[in-house]
Amino acid sequence: MMFRLDGQVAVVTGGSKGIGFGMAQSLGRVGATVIIASRGKDSLIQAAEQLESEGINVAYYSVDVTKKHGVQLWIEEVIRDFGRIDILINNAGKNIRKTLLDIEEEDWDTVMDTNLKGIFFVGQAVARQMIQQEYGRMINISSIFGGIGGSHQTSYAASKGGINQLTKVWAEEMATKGVTVNAIAPGYIQTPMTEGWLSNEDRYNNIVNQTMMKRVGTLADMEGPVVFLSSEASRYITGQTIYVDGGWTAK
Ligand code: NDP
Repeated sequence: MMFRLDGQVAVVTGGSKGIGFGMAQSLGRVGATVIIASRGKDSLIQAAEQLESEGINVAYYSVDVTKKHGVQLWIEEVIRDFGRIDILINNAGKNIRKTLLDIEEEDWDTVMDTNLKGIFFVGQAVARQMIQQEYGRMINISSIFGGIGGSHQTSYAASKGGINQLTKVWAEEMATKGVTVNAIAPGYIQTPMTEGWLSNEDRYNNIVNQTMMKRVGTLADMEGPVVFLSSEASRYITGQTIYVDGGWTAK
């Protein structure tokens, strides 16, 4: 029962695809009403239809997390429609892999705006509601690269390292207000974002070799950690970054 989320409202940014979709599905399966948001409407509709077909209570909103005003209006609408937000999966993200010498200013801005500014805008808007209702579980989606760096990851590693730090700051600011804030840092997970990168056989084998468990991750590997951090079971855990990476970063 500690892991059930019946009657709770979970907001998932980037919920139309990949990790966000998988997490929405995981939370819905243990009883939460899930609200998925991303920019592309067609993929949102498709995702919502799939969740609905599994008996999950779902709503979708087309939102660009990099636009502060739009984010505020969206969160106000969610609160009007659903009355509260118990769980936030702050997941929408982007990666542009280029070396230091090749990366352009616009690449840097795109990654930073989505991964860091977007997380901040959504986190701030939702925090107001969570503090007011004196309850919340905020989960920011980081990456192993936020901790270990990695070549071709200038903007991405910087943005994810920033997420690990703001997770600690928000945790402290809300620790006595009933709100926990944690981050999940996945290793390589098979999603639309990593499809192209993992399709190169040498690269794929190299990634597998670096992982203690000798495989890349799947959406199912994210299920336990996200349900745990969203539930009553994690009530004394805050400000942490949990690595879900098959042992990659433990070596
Ligand atoms: P995908 O590219 O598969 O999905 C990204 C999701 O974010 C889509 O729903 C996309 O929809 C949405 N999105 C992107 N930009 C915006 C925006 N500006 N506003 C709103 N929604 C947006 O990525 P993954 O599922 O692979 O990654 C999800 C998160 O997990 C990211 O933060 C990523 O950094 C992190 N991560 C992923 C790993 C992996 O191996 N896959 C490993 C470690 C971390 P749309 O484009 O329609 O807006």
